[in-house]
Amino acid sequence: MQTSTDLKGLLAWIDRRGYPAYKETKGAYQFPGYVLSIDHVQGDPFAAPSKLSIHIAGKTAGFPPELYRLPCQRIALQDELTRQFGRQAAQASGQARGSGHSGLISVSRCGQEVLERTACVLDPGSGDLVLRLEVGFPANGRTINARELEKILFDLLPRCVESSLLYRNLDRRRLQGVADLAEDQHFIREQLPKLGLCAFVADGSVLPRESGISQRPMKGAVPFVSPEELAVELDLPHRGKLRGMGVPRGITLIVGGGYHGKSTLLKALEVGVYDHIAGDGREYVITDDTAVKIRSEDGRSIRRTDISLFINHLPNGKDTAAFVTEDASGSTSQAANVVESMEAGSTLLLIDEDTSATNFMIRDALMQRVIHRDMEPITPFIDRIRELYDRHGISTVIVAGSSGAYFHIADHIIQMDRYIPRDITARAKEEAQAYPLQSAPLAPGPLPNFDRRPQASPEFRSGDRVKLKSLGRDGVSLNRETIDLRYVEQLRDGEQSAALGYCMLYAQRHLLDGRRTLRQVVEALEAVMEREGLSALCESRSSVPFLARPRRQEIFACFDRYRGLRL
Ligand code: ADP
Ligand code: MG
Repeated sequence: MQTSTDLKGLLAWIDRRGYPAYKETKGAYQFPGYVLSIDHVQGDPFAAPSKLSIHIAGKTAGFPPELYRLPCQRIALQDELTRQFGRQAAQASGQARGSGHSGLISVSRCGQEVLERTACVLDPGSGDLVLRLEVGFPANGRTINARELEKILFDLLPRCVESSLLYRNLDRRRLQGVADLAEDQHFIREQLPKLGLCAFVADGSVLPRESGISQRPMKGAVPFVSPEELAVELDLPHRGKLRGMGVPRGITLIVGGGYHGKSTLLKALEVGVYDHIAGDGREYVITDDTAVKIRSEDGRSIRRTDISLFINHLPNGKDTAAFVTEDASGSTSQAANVVESMEAGSTLLLIDEDTSATNFMIRDALMQRVIHRDMEPITPFIDRIRELYDRHGISTVIVAGSSGAYFHIADHIIQMDRYIPRDITARAKEEAQAYPLQSAPLAPGPLPNFDRRPQASPEFRSGDRVKLKSLGRDGVSLNRETIDLRYVEQLRDGEQSAALGYCMLYAQRHLLDGRRTLRQVVEALEAVMEREGLSALCESRSSVPFLARPRRQEIFACFDRYRGLRL
């Protein structure tokens, strides 16, 4: 392998030449304590920055294996190191100067959630550490300024590595805290099914966020307190005793006046499928990690989804057992979202009236009298919610402040009262008796048919060039087709969307054969990520993009919104 001295010589040699001469630097170089690999060199100073990676041997990095005994602890440690390196990089960024992106140094920007990313990977066997970063190779105009790159690679970067990636220089208590929190969160997640719960919200949690554009905790918020009736006390391995609200499996209704915190609680449950960093306020809000937020999403495409559980006898005669549309209505989109979540193995649905199609949720008595059941293609969710639980084991938490209809079928009713939850099940049930449900119980619906077997499109034959473009959190574009993920609300990070793009491409090239069902395709994708890591999704292992791991449910959601998928 070449050494850092070789690189220094090379830099002197290409200094002041035309920008393309930077391409010569591609390769791996032994620095004191680590290998610096220049994986991809940008074409000009205004193009996307160059991609580098730092490889540190386990012995040098020195992280004690106890810190990453559990997979969730390893992911939390990787996340913490990405953040620490990111802080150092932010200080170093811009110190070298020039045109365009010259001097930029950056890594993934982590949000409140702890996600598995390609940015930092610790090998659990050897303890070897890889950190990926981007650097804008400096130039004046289009003339190489190798002195400035030398400053970055020989002065700024080594200092970032020293202070953020070597165990001996890090705050041990802090890292232990990260590992302990991850284990506690894992513990709660494991306890949920044993306790018959689908979520846990600890007392003292801060659920609201600072603002619509900031995911930081709101200052001065009313802390969460569980009602006595739903309180459970857990004994966490590190933190010890922790009281909080256990949301039981079954049907839970959240009611309350407008602005009393209903949606805020639901939102916290939605993102409780992920672990949160210390200080977030939702560290101990843990939800069944298969949970899916169900909402209406008119305009989405539906690809042969069997929605006959909810929709039948459409006036245009369309087959609802393999429903296809390029432009779904509110109710059909919401029905598809439910059935697709069943296909994705979800055992908890989260629904907010704010983002639901009313005609999908309920049909009141008067309307049932005027428009007879035979004239209405929609079987509202309220008529299937019990069946979902009893027959399919799928619980629902539903926010409804405007209709009492769900009082009748809910197992538990929580009222949000000035941000404090109260268990009003008994009183609400009593009141509901004065307003009996009008409709006779329905016979159970058909079992959804999940037999969808996508085929590969010829445009993705390997060897052909494919355009894959990340559009941030909101979507991804694959050969100019945009897959719209705006309403897949539990997708939290642009790097997850990017990873979904790579999942689609990987599936097109290796998995879609018209024989595998969509379920088998998604299982195969997950197996690849599990076995070989996220970077295995990429064709070129030498230059790995920044990706974050999406859940199984979001992989399904992406296939379901992929209009070009041949089904
Ligand atoms: P609802 O869905 O019941 O109408 P929201 O959940 O949208 O109410 O909350 C209304 C407002 O109250 C939001 O601006 C939210 O940030 C704020 N809020 C929610 N929970 C709390 C809390 N625990 N403490 C302080 N403010 C809160
Ligand atoms: Mg609301």
